[in-house]
Amino acid sequence: MRSCEGCDGDGWVEEEFARPQDFNRDVGYLDTRRVECEDCGGTGAAETFRIWFKEGGSVSETWGGHGIITSVDQLRELADQYDFDAEEVLDWGETEMLDEDGDVVGGVVIYAV
Ligand SMILES: [Zn+2]
Repeated sequence: MRSCEGCDGDGWVEEEFARPQDFNRDVGYLDTRRVECEDCGGTGAAETFRIWFKEGGSVSETWGGHGIITSVDQLRELADQYDFDAEEVLDWGETEMLDEDGDVVGGVVIYAV
């Protein structure tokens, strides 16, 4: 599995925050703290998927339009929109979209670089 680019796989990033001058502190300064990485939700893993569609049910492997999904949130949004099983992608690395006849019309796979 690839590491998240936002945090290099750590799952957290350092964020600066101000500690202003107060009664206990002569001079205000910037401190850092660890916050959960927003890109990967703290998992440290890159969550990138590719969604693809087969054109008009043709047998040839034409990419009738493919897109890169860059977060699990986006994956779940598209799962609602296109009616595929996001959990299957996360568990098994791929899923397929079927039409009413049971033919594969597209799918989603974990995008490996
Ligand atoms: Zn991250």
